[in-house]
Amino acid sequence: MALLRAGIEIDAYCTRCRMDLTHRIIAVVNNKPVKVECRTCYGTHNYRAPKSSPVPAEKTTGGTSAPRPKASPRRSAAPEEQISVAPPPGARIHGYRMTERFSKDQWVAHKVFGTGVVTQVLGDDKIEVHFDGVSKVLVHNRPEE
Ligand SMILES: [Zn+2]
Repeated sequence: MALLRAGIEIDAYCTRCRMDLTHRIIAVVNNKPVKVECRTCYGTHNYRAPKSSPVPAEKTTGGTSAPRPKASPRRSAAPEEQISVAPPPGARIHGYRMTERFSKDQWVAHKVFGTGVVTQVLGDDKIEVHFDGVSKVLVHNRPEE
């Protein structure tokens, strides 16, 4: 299996164009694309496998209830996660400051970790950000001291 990384182009289903199109990978976790940018409408969305070519692992064709050798879904942000992100051209990248408030899918530039994308807002004061190679929980929306 080819190694996927952010920045390369793959076929994916575009949720906006409603068809299989070339997408640029924006974020990869554990060699699976999670976020892509459509090269046609330039919309950014979660990765969907192309409709035309069935992708293994996403859907199992057999309906048998065989035991699945899957990791438990309870596992949260394992340190071995392999993450790769690349901002789309023209993306607005905000300098990270803990006093600023960030929202999902925003790009941030961090002094230590580099450029990353907000993958989750964890309550009022924390965000999860995927940087190239690492996922971090950062504080945000902190009152100025
Ligand atoms: Zn599209």
